[in-house]
Amino acid sequence: MPAHVQAVIAREKGAPVTLETVVIPDPGPGEAVVRVQACGVCHTDLHYREGGISDAFPFLLGHEAAGVVDAVGPGVTSVGPGDFVVLNWRAVCGECRSCRRGRPQYCFSTHNATQKMTLLDGTELAPALGIGAFAEKTLVAAGQCTKVDPAARPEAVGLLGCGVMAGFGAAMFTGEVGYGDSVAVFGCGGVGCAAVAGAVLAGATTVIAVDLDQRKLDLARAFGATDLVDASAADPVEAVRALTGGNGADVCIEAVGNPAVMEQAFYARDLAGTLVQVGVPTPEMRIDLPMIEFFGRGGRLKPSWYGDCLPSRDFPVLVELYLQGRLDLDRFVSETIALGDVESAFGRMQRGEVLRSVVLLGA
Ligand SMILES: [Zn+2]
Ligand SMILES: [Zn+2]
Repeated sequence: MPAHVQAVIAREKGAPVTLETVVIPDPGPGEAVVRVQACGVCHTDLHYREGGISDAFPFLLGHEAAGVVDAVGPGVTSVGPGDFVVLNWRAVCGECRSCRRGRPQYCFSTHNATQKMTLLDGTELAPALGIGAFAEKTLVAAGQCTKVDPAARPEAVGLLGCGVMAGFGAAMFTGEVGYGDSVAVFGCGGVGCAAVAGAVLAGATTVIAVDLDQRKLDLARAFGATDLVDASAADPVEAVRALTGGNGADVCIEAVGNPAVMEQAFYARDLAGTLVQVGVPTPEMRIDLPMIEFFGRGGRLKPSWYGDCLPSRDFPVLVELYLQGRLDLDRFVSETIALGDVESAFGRMQRGEVLRSVVLLGA
């Protein structure tokens, strides 16, 4: 029997989101229905609402979620009813040219559910990042569910589904931060703070947080940043150099998605250093760098897709680190809210008042 549940819908470009009844089909082959327990509010949800990602309205928003598997379709063996799972938006296919070469973290053909969730009148919904978890239940591909230790709080570990994993992985996997490295993180929202936490866990000895907002810098400090640079008061390139013996950082991570910040991160890097871009740009953004600087500085410039993570490999590990008290996922949860509060949470996010508002569903 298809389920009727409450869900947060973006009906049209720029309009406030609304709480509506949606229809969740029974899971088909390869699919799972998940009873959502918690789902974080991410900038990407707002980008969907503003039409910045596609025009395929109406959207079912929400994608940083944890919950319990309600039912699985034929052929699903990876998870079953009752499993506590974190949802991911890159369920790897195992068959594309990247997967076949042993690089599933770059899978070029990731899976989502085949069936559509709909409004009561049958209008098909486009779920944000193929998830759509601001809903009491959602339908996903079974590969989008990663089973983790049920001792973890859903509102904390659900955040691994997007921003926290992207930032953590940008440091740990894309940047390959290691023992004794110096790291500078530009932009200390949820993604940047996760990059700080990842750099600390990876063994970096200098972790410099750069932001315009003192509240964000204070949060970065709490995640283990050793030095703070207020970019509203000082030239961040000079400041990072001054904190690294005049050389620049081994790894610079751009976690804003802004050309000016990208340029700062490029020049704040030591020779042969690594620049990681994890902040998501808009289509019109451009960067203009002298080729001689690109060549002469050497090193690596690397975009980071979802932190180059592999959910099946990484979510259980990060949950274990969380349960051991070595990765403070609770600190990312600024507030818990109800399903009807997503619109007001967008405002708090835009004003920089929260790292993450997290919707708590049911009990
Ligand atoms: Zn693939
Ligand atoms: Zn997100």
